[in-house]
Amino acid sequence: TGCGRADDTSTSGSGSSASGGSGSGGFAGDSLIGVSLPQKTSENWVLAEQLFKDDLGKAGFKADVQFANGGVGEQQNQIQSMVTKGAKVIVIGAIDGAQLGTQVKAAKDAGATVIAYDRLIKNTDAVDYYVAYDNFKVGVLQGNALLEGMAAKKPSGPYNIELFAGSPDDANAQVFFDGAMSVLKPKIDDGTLKVTSGQTAFNQAVTQGWKAENAQKRMDTLLSASYSSAALDGVLSPNDTLARAIITSVKAAGKPVPVVTGQDSEVESVKSIMAGEQYSTINKDTRNLVAETIKMVQALQKGEKPTVNDDKSYNNGVKVVPANLLVPVIVTKANAKEAYANDPTLSKLTQ
Ligand code: BGC
Repeated sequence: TGCGRADDTSTSGSGSSASGGSGSGGFAGDSLIGVSLPQKTSENWVLAEQLFKDDLGKAGFKADVQFANGGVGEQQNQIQSMVTKGAKVIVIGAIDGAQLGTQVKAAKDAGATVIAYDRLIKNTDAVDYYVAYDNFKVGVLQGNALLEGMAAKKPSGPYNIELFAGSPDDANAQVFFDGAMSVLKPKIDDGTLKVTSGQTAFNQAVTQGWKAENAQKRMDTLLSASYSSAALDGVLSPNDTLARAIITSVKAAGKPVPVVTGQDSEVESVKSIMAGEQYSTINKDTRNLVAETIKMVQALQKGEKPTVNDDKSYNNGVKVVPANLLVPVIVTKANAKEAYANDPTLSKLTQ
């Protein structure tokens, strides 16, 4: 197996197991399973590719695992060709959750099951299941970490902050932001937090394509427009890639590094946290997410209903998609050692 993180499936995914299959479904144990992944905007996707290839193969399936680095059109073609090749299940990490309606309908019409992986697929009834870490909870954890990190440096507010969100075509971005704002908005309203730029709306905070350069540019602009005299205490960043870009911008401006949140437990960010720079990240162990997805595929293979533990949170505009939600964990320097204890790569960084 090419990557150092294998095999742990301990936590997550516990929940009510839906009752057994109707006997209608099921397919051969060596069937083709398609996995269409988005662009490599963060390390978790690269890890997922390797795990799906290795572990679908180990489970006896034929795996067709592909990235869509070229963008939405490439992903649409890729899914269509998985349908044509006869894939029984198509697992999709969507680039743009609202642009796959035609392709997932084609998959359904061909008798395949569609699982939205990590990111929801919107505005279609042709998506069967969703498997992901609880995205709203991720945002809540980020909001709380931001408050705690700032309070540790300065016991009381008001605190000056700025808000960053992910890419608006990714259905997760709004959910992360909403989760964080459920914690931060009351504190903005009561004056504890001040968004100095005034940019508190999701569409003002977004980072197209989850690209570091876009976050860095926006931070540069915010710093020169709003922080020539004011001190910046904290920044809500939706993930690690953007957190590092924000920190780079602040340093280039010669300012002290504020409390910055993150997500994904990327190697460079874990190093930064241990060095006391980035404040927090989120552990969403990709090994568990892929393992839960493969369990769903195995249930479908046997003609059973996959385990779901949430049937209310993820309305995609047309239907509520039954979801298997895993529990994300906040990580700061204080708990990093414990949080990554069973991760061969990250545990080395916390010694
Ligand atoms: C994932 C995040 C990731 C982001 C950028 C999101 O959909 O949930 O973990 O940071 O995509 O790749």
